[in-house]
Amino acid sequence: MADPHQETRRLLDRRATLLRERIHHIDPTAARRDCLLDTGDAAAAAAAETEQLALRDRARDALHDVQAALHRLDTGDYGRCVYCGRPISADRLDAVPTADTCTECADPATNRSTDTEDT
Ligand SMILES: [Zn+2]
Repeated sequence: MADPHQETRRLLDRRATLLRERIHHIDPTAARRDCLLDTGDAAAAAAAETEQLALRDRARDALHDVQAALHRLDTGDYGRCVYCGRPISADRLDAVPTADTCTECADPATNRSTDTEDT
């Protein structure tokens, strides 16, 4: 039987590869090394280092999300909300292939923890 999520899996695999490459090539200390001769640039180097660390953290978070989505594809849980178990809409998965919640559970205004019907 054909994998109904074959295209999604290919896209997520490709995204994971790109994110791993990005993480591998981010060198937070590069700016500091490059301006060793000009100590006046120390503050700029520190700022650049902080920015690179933030970029690496974001890439790692994104990779984690992609790997989690690939795992859900393997277990057959892809496309189901991790909170309520309802199907996640195709539109949402098209926009956010790593989505693990339905729009209702993802929306703080309708968050299940405040899910109280009118009395
Ligand atoms: Zn949900």
